[in-house]
Amino acid sequence: MIAVFGGTFDPVHYGHLRPLLEVKQALGLDEVRLMPCFMPPHRDVPGATPKQRLKMLQLAIEEVPGFVIDQRELQRGGPSYMVDTLQSLRDELGKTPICLIMGLDAFLGIESWHQWPRLYELSHIVVAQRPGSKLPQQGAVANLVENARVEDVSMLRQHAAGRVYFQSVTQLDISATAIREQIACGQDVRFLMPDSVRRYIETEDLYKTERVR
Ligand code: ATP
Repeated sequence: MIAVFGGTFDPVHYGHLRPLLEVKQALGLDEVRLMPCFMPPHRDVPGATPKQRLKMLQLAIEEVPGFVIDQRELQRGGPSYMVDTLQSLRDELGKTPICLIMGLDAFLGIESWHQWPRLYELSHIVVAQRPGSKLPQQGAVANLVENARVEDVSMLRQHAAGRVYFQSVTQLDISATAIREQIACGQDVRFLMPDSVRRYIETEDLYKTERVR
């Protein structure tokens, strides 16, 4: 069973990495594929180039067993729709179970994703959440949870796609936006991300001109 985690990673930080490792361990995943997007459909143009975002990811996960970078969205170019990514993975992997990992915030907004019902036809959805987080009581997301939620990890292995699973993780209130803003203000962003990534940002002079809201 493998998992996919998409993001802009502008830059990657511990708020991405620690929950991912916990999900990997809890689910016994063979592989976590970090999928940097080329052009995020939901937000502004990234501050770093695709090449720089990729390099930061490479620095962040070197020596992390089972974490790999999948560059298909960067290679595809254009808007990075997760549904296209999952379809191409599904074409390659046949009936292997695939888990799409996302934070609770992303899951609550899933109806805005391109062709969102196809996402759970192509993969399971694993929501990394803070223990005791609130879920919606009605609407399409509530219906999806009611119909597709499983409590047992083994159910994810028995099917290739279509189940929703909630995994409690240590949530770290870190965001790439806040990191970019801190750098623009000249603050030290140590301990929010791997040191190798922080040093790369310094060397490349990244995020110095982030617009601060
Ligand atoms: P930005 O602040 O630039 O929007 P971000 O820090 O939210 O960036 P992204 O690369 O856009 O990072 O996020 C990709 C994925 O990472 C999303 O599924 C998002 O829910 C998740 N994520 C981001 N930050 C955290 C965090 N601190 N804890 C858990 N999940 C996170």
